[in-house]
Formats: sequence, structure tokens, C-alpha cells
Amino acid sequence: MNSSVADFQERMQLLANAFIKELPGKTEDLKTLWQQLQNEWHAEKLQIVHRKAHGLAGSSKTFGLSELSRVADSMEQTLKAALQNKTPMDERQCEEIFSQLLELSRLAANPAPDLSQVIAQKLNDYLVDTDDACRVFVVDDDQEAAQELALQISYYGYEVEVFGRLADFRKAIKKTPNAIVLMNVEFSDDAMAGIRIMKEIQREMAEPVLAMFLSSNDDLAVRLEAVRAGGIAYLTKPINSTELIEQLDSFAVPQTQTPFRVLIIDDSASDLAYHTAVLELSGMVVRGVEQMDGVMKTLLEFNPDVILIDVYLPECSGIELAKVIRQIDGLLNVPIVYLSSKNDFNTQQEAMQLASDDFLVKPIDPKGLISAVTMRVRRARLLRGLMVRDGLTGLFNHTAIREQLGREIVRSNRLKTPLSFAMIDVDFFKKVNDNHGHAAGDRVLKSLARLLKQRLRGTDIVGRYGGEEFAVILTDTNAPEAAKVIDEIRKVFSRLLHMSDNKEFKVTFSCGIADIKHYPDVKSVSEAADKALYQAKKKGRNQVMDNAGD
Ligand code: GH3
Ligand code: MG
Ligand code: MG
Repeated sequence: MNSSVADFQERMQLLANAFIKELPGKTEDLKTLWQQLQNEWHAEKLQIVHRKAHGLAGSSKTFGLSELSRVADSMEQTLKAALQNKTPMDERQCEEIFSQLLELSRLAANPAPDLSQVIAQKLNDYLVDTDDACRVFVVDDDQEAAQELALQISYYGYEVEVFGRLADFRKAIKKTPNAIVLMNVEFSDDAMAGIRIMKEIQREMAEPVLAMFLSSNDDLAVRLEAVRAGGIAYLTKPINSTELIEQLDSFAVPQTQTPFRVLIIDDSASDLAYHTAVLELSGMVVRGVEQMDGVMKTLLEFNPDVILIDVYLPECSGIELAKVIRQIDGLLNVPIVYLSSKNDFNTQQEAMQLASDDFLVKPIDPKGLISAVTMRVRRARLLRGLMVRDGLTGLFNHTAIREQLGREIVRSNRLKTPLSFAMIDVDFFKKVNDNHGHAAGDRVLKSLARLLKQRLRGTDIVGRYGGEEFAVILTDTNAPEAAKVIDEIRKVFSRLLHMSDNKEFKVTFSCGIADIKHYPDVKSVSEAADKALYQAKKKGRNQVMDNAGD
């Protein structure tokens, strides 16, 4: 981590140097534009001068040039007032601008950035905080239940702390705001104490606290209150620990998740580079768009988890752009965060009315940026996950896997790469249920799901197709290669020992495979795989068949 901090600082220094080098040119440019305006008044040109002053105020603050930023900022205020009046500026205002321009040139010729303060301290905060990412707070006045729960969770590598008193918890969460809170709803003296205190705490904190509620009450009214208190999950007692751990993992273990994909749209090259550096430092994949004509293409291709938009863009406002994004299929639910300066107050009001989108005020400190982005992506992914995941195995459900298959076929055709579809069906599964019980059957399905996820590549897509049927999309793989891969998994699976009432048993599966070279669309490739699966069953089960298009 330390080396990446050093990298980051070096990168920031380079960015700052580049910015400083361009500074005299930028202030000259402003001066020239201003002189042209003096010769001939032009509302559009005034707009450009204003935008440039705005940009200069923001970026110079980012790179630690606070004096320069202050002057550019007050110049921007004067220009903004003039813009709103829509009349030429009076003599006094013109003089003021002129002297501010001189001051900017003077500061630009001899810049003294204080970068160390800007970055080092804030990064330090960020590093301290991320250490708490896997901390879990259990809050419950039933000490015995709380300790038992804490023990279970600690088996999965979480660092758990138990709080019996709400006051102690309140103090601790202020110090460790990134901890995940498992809050009991009912306390002995108050049936809603847990929700009540979370509501208070959410109001007091800068960023929402991740809170999961545990309750023996399954009423809608209580669930609603829990949501209002910022609850991200609601588990009813007795707590199913597998379910609880899955929920925790979805929030707490970013390293096992695919990296967050962040799209930044900002016409200021230096701001863009700065925000990119910060987010990449925390392992995110960032794509920046500086020119508006590249926006549509990137929106359609990049598949972002979250979009950051500068509200002040040259060709349209960030808010307008957000409206356009909301009309694009597949981007309807992507969270949008606006990057604004403190002077964009009216725009902030306007944007807030739009949706649940959010605002960050430039200059944004690294810690604030990372936590805002992380929070939004986690929430969006969780919500999306609830719609497309199968409850028992956590794999994609039937509809989702069909959709993914369609998408992957389009992609493979474009890239001219192979793609295979495999259908897997557990052998004699009815007997497993009959002999060992439904619960043991469920465990078999879960173990197969885990095995598939673990053995396949991250680029392969695994789904639960139906009861004891699974489907796998193997990208960049033709049918014979896919058959080899799945056959290895078949062998491993057939050796697994399953348990029921102290009895051990083994289970096998059969598999049918087809690829898009022979079956080019969703319908034909899935039918062909299904046919191959039927053949595998007929031939005696526990085998993989490849439907090579005959
Ligand atoms: P074959 O080898 O021909 O596939 O035989 P089979 O017994 O596996 O096939 P069949 O389709 O007749 O039976 C599937 C059984 O799977 C029937 C159903 O009760 C069971 N099943 C479906 N979904 C679930 C589930 O979620 N959990 C459990 N435990 N059983 C399930
Ligand atoms: Mg079946
Ligand atoms: Mg079966």
C-alpha cells in the first residue's frame, strides 16, 4: 500500500507540474479573451471567459495553489453576476476584472504550490479508514446472542466488536464510520431502539453508515422504518448465518469483487487526471471523457458502475447530459454523481430534484471521492444483484443468464471470438432428495455452484438455469475446449463427499455443450446444448457431450 501511495504522490506531482507549466498560457488566454470582449461585447464570449475562470479556480485549488484559486474564484463571481444581468459590465467591474487578471498573471509566473498538504494528509486519512473495511459491529443488549453471532462471523475472517450499550456504539461508529453495523432492532426497554439510534446516527454522519438490521419482527411497518434508517439488509431471526455472510461479503470484500468501473466526464483535463489517479489508486477501473463528442460511444461501450459528471461542461450542462444518459437502455439505474464547485448552488438544487443522484464539491479530497464512489457502486450492485441472482446459489438466475448469453453472442460476433454454452444437470437428483432429504439436496446444489465459480475463469458466466440445472457461458472458448474444461470439473464434482445425517454420499452430473460457430443465436445454441445434454443422459450420465453441429 505504501508503494502505491508513493506512486500516487509522484503522479500527483507530475500532474501538478504539468498544470503549473500551462498556467501562464492559461492566464494569457484569459487576458486576450477579456481584451476582445472590451473591444466588442459578446455574451457568448463572456460565457467562455467565465467558464475558464471557473476551471482555473477549481484546478488551482486541487493542486495546492490556494492564493491563485482565491483570485480566480472572486473573478468568477464578478463574471457570473454580469452573465446573469445580460448587460455589459460597468466601468468599476471592468477595472476589477482587469486587476484580477494582472494578479493572476503575477501568481502564475511564480507559483508556489503546497501539494504536500493537499495530498499527504488526506491520503493518510484514507489509508487509516480502509483498514476498517472488514470491521463489523454487532449491537445487541442480549450479550449471549451477540457473542455467539460475533463468533460465527469471525470464522469468516471478519474483525468483530460487540456493543451491548447504544451509547458505546454511537461513540465507536463515529471513530470507525466504515464499519458494517449489525443492529438488533429490539432492545429490552424499547422495541425499536436499534432503528431509532441508526436514524439519528445517519443524520449526524457525512456518509451513510452501512447498517443491517436483525429482528424477530417481520412486519412491513418495521421493515419500512429500517429502510428509512438506511438499512441495506433486513434479516429475521433465527439468523441464517450463510445468508448473513453472503450479505456481508457483498459489502465488505471489494478485493473479491470485479473492480468498480468508473466513468468520468469532465472537460477539465487536470481535474480528470487528478480524479482518475485517486480512483485508480484504490483499484478501480477508470475511463475519462474530456471531449463531448466521445461521450456516446464510451457510454455504450464501457459499462460503468457509476458515472461522475462535471456539472459545468462546454456544450451542455451536466444535468442535461444526465437526462440523456437516463434514456439509454441499460444505464437507467447507473448512479450518477455530479462534480461541482461551491458556486454551482442553483444547479445543485436542480439536480437534487432529478433523482437520487449526488453532489461532490470540487476540490474533492481523495478520501471523500473514494468513499462516495464505493458507497454508490456497492448499493447499485446490490440492487442489481437482487434482481438477477438466484437466492440459493447466488448465481445468475434463468432470465439473467439468457440475457447475458444474448449480450455475449453479440460481443463475440463483433470481436470474432468463439463462445460456448454449457448446460449441466445433476444426475438422479430426485433420488438424492428422496434418500437424504431436501436440505441435503440444497447443499449439493450449493457445492456445485461454488465449484463452478471457483474452477471457471472470471470471464466465464455461471447461472442456475432451473431446479438442478446450471448453465455456463464460456467466452473465447470453442465447444471442444469447453468440453475439456467442464469435464475436469465433472471429475472433481464426482469425488466430492456430501453429508446427510452422518451418512456420506456422492453425486455426479451430465453436461451438454454447443458453440456459436455452429449455432449462432441464443435459441439455437441453447437448444443444441440441451440436446447434447439429453445424449449424455442417454449414454449413461456422468459425462460431457459436445454438440458439434451434426
Ligand atoms: P436425471 O439424471 O435424469 O436428471 O434425473 P433427476 O432425478 O435428476 O431428474 P428429474 O428432473 O426427474 O428430477 C429433478 C429433481 O430435482 C426434482 C426436484 O424435486 C429436484 N429439485 C429441483 N429444484 C430443487 C431445489 O432447489 N432443491 C432441491 N433439494 N431439489 C430440487
Ligand atoms: Mg433436470
Ligand atoms: Mg437431473
